Amino acid sequence: MSTTLVVAIDGPSGSGKSSVSRAVASALELAYLDTGAMYRAATWWCVQQGLDLTDAAAVAAAVDGFPLVIGTDPAHPSVHVGGVDVHEAIRSTQITAVVSAIATNLEVRELLGNLQRSLIAASGESDSFSQGRGIVAEGRDITTVIAPDADVRVLLTASEAARLARRARDVHGTDDAAAVEATRDQVLRRDADDSTVVQFHVAADGVVTIDSSHMNFEETVQAVLEVVEAEVGPRP
Ligand code: C5P
Repeated sequence: MSTTLVVAIDGPSGSGKSSVSRAVASALELAYLDTGAMYRAATWWCVQQGLDLTDAAAVAAAVDGFPLVIGTDPAHPSVHVGGVDVHEAIRSTQITAVVSAIATNLEVRELLGNLQRSLIAASGESDSFSQGRGIVAEGRDITTVIAPDADVRVLLTASEAARLARRARDVHGTDDAAAVEATRDQVLRRDADDSTVVQFHVAADGVVTIDSSHMNFEETVQAVLEVVEAEVGPRP
């Protein structure tokens, strides 16, 4: 029997899924896959080429085989496109504002989804980053479309107010009323747009919901680790 562990975590913006997933991957010595970074990198690539992001066919053609290299070390997440380090650039407000246009392109979802499945499968290889131990993969359709057979599937959620406040603190360093207002588009509008093609607010059958509204970061990481242990037992 294989000992490769696949943990899939999805949820809405501001639920903390990226930082929590990274910490869980580090704690379990697993690889880490940030699928949002893949959608962001594809968006950066299309913007770079001056494409009309509403031209679904042109965007899909550009994303097909685009030169993406994504690292899976949770301690050093890295994203390169055509040899350019885009780790910072893909998190700009310019990219965040338009990424949903790419993420709602069904052909793009198919292409990036296939890439994600192969990266998850590769984490079981002995010559991979985790030496075959496995991976924590996070993103909006991971528990349902991409890795429905993952050993552990978690929907990480939080109230709208908690998600807005968290994102405001991340982006503006404060969660006062003005900062929360300025964050509304990135969190609520983006999730509303993304929800037209992916469901990530309600857990599918077999997916464990963790509501982190009243948990701090460490408590949330601990809660995920407890779900992992409950589902697959203690890790060696
Ligand atoms: O998680 P992050 O904010 O980096 O994701 C950026 C965007 O990528 C999301 O708003 C969504 O449009 C898209 N995405 C997706 N499916 C995933 C991961 C991200 O549609 N699995």
